[in-house]
Amino acid sequence: MNNFSPQEITLPGKVSNQYLERQQTRESNARTYPRRIPITIREANGIYVKDVDGNLYFDCLAGAGTLSLGHNHPIVIEAIRAALDSNLPLHTLDLTTPIKDEFVEELFASLPPEFARNARIQFCGPTGADATEAAIKLVKTATGRRSMLSFHGSYHGMTNGALSLTGNLDAKVAVAGLMPDVHFLPYPYEYRCPFNLGGEMGHRTSSYYIESILTDPESGIVPPAGMILEIVQGEGGVIPAPDEWVREIRRITYEQNIPLIVDEIQTGFGRTGKLYAFEHSGIIPDVLLLSKAIGGSLPLSVVVYDQKLDQWKPGAHAGTFRGNQLAMAAGIAVLRYTLEHRLADRAVELGDRLTSHLRQIQSQTSCMGDVRGPGLMVGVELVNPQGKANARGCYPRHPLMARQIQAECMRRGLILELGGRDSSVIRFLPPLIVTAEQIDSICEIFQAAVKAAEAKLAGLDLGEVCGC
Ligand code: PLP
Repeated sequence: MNNFSPQEITLPGKVSNQYLERQQTRESNARTYPRRIPITIREANGIYVKDVDGNLYFDCLAGAGTLSLGHNHPIVIEAIRAALDSNLPLHTLDLTTPIKDEFVEELFASLPPEFARNARIQFCGPTGADATEAAIKLVKTATGRRSMLSFHGSYHGMTNGALSLTGNLDAKVAVAGLMPDVHFLPYPYEYRCPFNLGGEMGHRTSSYYIESILTDPESGIVPPAGMILEIVQGEGGVIPAPDEWVREIRRITYEQNIPLIVDEIQTGFGRTGKLYAFEHSGIIPDVLLLSKAIGGSLPLSVVVYDQKLDQWKPGAHAGTFRGNQLAMAAGIAVLRYTLEHRLADRAVELGDRLTSHLRQIQSQTSCMGDVRGPGLMVGVELVNPQGKANARGCYPRHPLMARQIQAECMRRGLILELGGRDSSVIRFLPPLIVTAEQIDSICEIFQAAVKAAEAKLAGLDLGEVCGC
């Protein structure tokens, strides 16, 4: 299936429902993606997936950012095959192997030397949320403190501790007894500035406010064990933090002796235009969370941190599935390929192409409020121009339009996911190997989908729209 071309993407024909129907009756009500991306995948290659009926789709979800080299990249498959052929154990707990040793070597070599020099690594259970959980325990143990700082709009996973640090209320309201002592701070969301200021004034007010509460003996917040931060909020709606703000946060946490945990589970390995998103601002975190792309599409997660935080006693953090050799072999291959082929630079180049197409489409419609990057992590925030604009001229969010555009894209062979408040942001997370030609075709589909969605919602029968 290597020879697909964008021309083969057509309006999907027949769609077999039997798998989806069985999935619906057997799987948990908590299932997420199949509700909006109702396909049964038979094969996948690069940016393409093909369903059981032979319909071809561009996959701009790419395993929620995991598949940085796309599906079944030859170097990933080759690395997995070589590991299998070498007769390595597939599972080793946290015992070491030459592959594990090489993975750590390569990973540390990819980090800024001043971080790598004093770094320790903990392999976690296989998911991103496991890395978040480990980081919470790490900083609490090291500082002896109990409270944590996080940001409005943040996403750190769905396990109890990680969910406690996550902004989205929908997932939290039904769960009693989440981790206490979590305090949420204002993130510099330029388009909908929480201070209604925007620009430099907006993010400087945020950092000023954060510093003031962290130095106020009556702020109500006991000295925190750590602060967790996404440099670009992904699930929160693709919101990049300005470099100056990130540097200020680093200064403040440093001066207040608060370990800074940078969550690069989604941004890691080149997606934002640097190998690690924290490199844009030049800061060095105390703790770095990595998962998704680092396992080359297989489950793997790690916490890399300054050794001064390593106050764990032997066995203080454990877990059975920390030794996935195939994931480490695939991860080495992905990291090397990403560096050798300068995929971070490519993310900038192709991300610029994508956002400039999207801005062109934005100029012809009133429903695309904001188009934002960076790199190949791109979001389009949908707004309702019939609503009341706020003081800065932003119209209300339009989740229905986002949902309708997503559905129209699906109908035309383009898989995109939603994020942000009320799922009103359409997210583009293509693999970093996407070509310029594919970006052009994706944007053509997107443009047609926006037109179709606008036409549908203009003749509004809300009951019919999106089948809701
Ligand atoms: N942190 C960030 C920034 C993420 O984007 C995600 C997942 O999307 C997670 C943590 C949780 O990772 P997982 O879903 O593998 O538990």
